[in-house]
Amino acid sequence: MQKIVFDHVTKYFGTAKAVNDAHLTIQEGEFFTLLGPSGCGKTTLLRTIAGFYRQEEGDIYFGERKINDVPTHERNIGMVFQNYAIFPHMTVFENVAYGLKARSVNKKETEQRVMEALEMVQLQHLRDRVPSDMSGGQQQRIALARAIVIRPGLLLMDEPLSNLDAKLRIKMRSDIRMLQKELNITTIYVTHDQEEALAVSDRIAVMHEGTIQQIAPPEDIYAYPANQFVANFIGTSNFIEAHCQRGAAAVAADEKVVAEAKAVGNIQLLGASFDLPLTKPYEGKVMMSLRPERIRLEAPDGAKPLIEGTIESVTFLGEKVSYLVRLQNGPVIDVQEHAVEPHQLRKVKQAVHVNLQLEKATMFDGGGKEVIYRATY
Ligand code: ATP
Repeated sequence: MQKIVFDHVTKYFGTAKAVNDAHLTIQEGEFFTLLGPSGCGKTTLLRTIAGFYRQEEGDIYFGERKINDVPTHERNIGMVFQNYAIFPHMTVFENVAYGLKARSVNKKETEQRVMEALEMVQLQHLRDRVPSDMSGGQQQRIALARAIVIRPGLLLMDEPLSNLDAKLRIKMRSDIRMLQKELNITTIYVTHDQEEALAVSDRIAVMHEGTIQQIAPPEDIYAYPANQFVANFIGTSNFIEAHCQRGAAAVAADEKVVAEAKAVGNIQLLGASFDLPLTKPYEGKVMMSLRPERIRLEAPDGAKPLIEGTIESVTFLGEKVSYLVRLQNGPVIDVQEHAVEPHQLRKVKQAVHVNLQLEKATMFDGGGKEVIYRATY
């Protein structure tokens, strides 16, 4: 098991940067996911690690060893791809044994290691079958066994579950996660599916247009998105434009104190105004990002600032209900509540009072690039 270091890695196709200045360290035994929309550069980055591509700038290290010029077959990597890439005419056993044969492992050890790998993916009983009459999930398990049987220092997986149906995907992703932890093998996983990434990863790198936008554990990516792209790509967010000026506290305080302490911003939103402690002094247009499940529909108690609204639609989603609420003088926002008894569902045209819970929102600068206010929970 080894850590992987990317030291300012850039990969061009022509003049376009498919990977732009990737700079990060993946820890030993970590399950690390590259997540982003189609074309963001995740496969290119993975292929650079594998040695299929050579980066134009920067260095890649496996442990302390710089591997820029080490060919793929000497990098000791196990790989699993979307299309399984297994040999349909060979038995399950022969498929898994393939990598050992190439490494001249003797017959006795091959038998032992292949059976060990097949047990790990629960396929030992199918060792003499051929993959062509097996299910997609079983074929993907063969591919997984073949990747781990060589005892790689690094496991790379590129959208390994995308050919499987939804239910099997969920089962396989938790199997992969458990196996990865059992083997404690450093793993880099590529997916465009945010739910999958949140479910399996120790940490996620969100990519957009070749550039890594944020690297953090799943719960932090969700709760503290680093910019508007991440807030929009991971989970659902309501985006509301607002204006920020220096808050009363900031204006009153001594200039030096203000510079040292966190600035207070006065946010003007939908005719109301709120003071929030900012990450740095800022004035101008801001973008609020509010998670639907953080917003509350409440009865007015005179204490909290509530915004009046009307329910425009009700979507029952099983464990939760999504209400589209038109705010008075404002946009339509998505508000989600835990599902209740059917007769307690709110109704279309019902008047409601909305508590935006701005302290649990994230606020970005006008361009959506930087966090101006970080949610507090
Ligand atoms: P997907 O999920 O669709 O595979 P991705 O995030 O993995 O997308 P890449 O396949 O890494 O994205 O592609 C990144 C960018 O590089 C894209 O703009 C793509 O068109 C371009 N690209 C990828 N491979 C090549 C290539 N061999 N030659 C030229 N351009 C390429």
